Amino acid sequence: MTAPRVVAVDGPAAAGKGTLARRLAAHLAIPYLDTGLLYRAVGMTLLSRGLDPRDAGAAAAVAAALTIEALARDDLRGPSADMAASRVAAIPAVRDALVGFQRRFAAAEGGAVLDGRDIGTRIFPDAPAKLFVTASPAVRAERRWKELQARGVHADLATVRHEIDTRDRQDATRPVAPLLQAADAVLIDTTWLTPDQAFQAALAAVRARLAKAA
Ligand code: C5P
Repeated sequence: MTAPRVVAVDGPAAAGKGTLARRLAAHLAIPYLDTGLLYRAVGMTLLSRGLDPRDAGAAAAVAAALTIEALARDDLRGPSADMAASRVAAIPAVRDALVGFQRRFAAAEGGAVLDGRDIGTRIFPDAPAKLFVTASPAVRAERRWKELQARGVHADLATVRHEIDTRDRQDATRPVAPLLQAADAVLIDTTWLTPDQAFQAALAAVRARLAKAA
């Protein structure tokens, strides 16, 4: 069996990994999965049922029953989804329940680009190409703030920065699958890069890794 052509793109919130991963997938003509949406969908399903995203039993049950259709909910972006996702993501049973979903997605088409926090460390530790995409917290907060503004969501920059810092802390310090750069991931720091420069750097790294693995 040939190993699936998996490109793992990990990094903290608002580092630009979604845009990058989507462009890489289009360029390589393989599917793309934004794995943050899985945690967002679990969190928002709980909230919309009046349940607490910290309720481990309820969250694990929702995660186990998650379908691809749930990822099309229209309430998965925005501060309450951000925080609900980060809360359910710290529950080991939720993470376990979502492992199969992510592996099946990539296996179905013989490969995929997946972005998240633990793709290269836990979901696909043998992925042939791994990137760790980051940027300074100030730049990430400003990008997220602009993104919210463009969508007509009112927020002030200081609050956005505070939420990003809180989420970073939660994601990096949780005992299960914390946000971590895989030892064999290529670091792409987008702080001073335009989206095009980030894409070119990422594409060059991915091409080199895929060629080496072929
Ligand atoms: O990437 P995004 O900001 O959409 O992710 C939302 C939240 O989901 C993150 O803050 C993180 O807690 C969680 N997440 C995760 N593992 C992933 C993807 C997202 O823990 N692979």
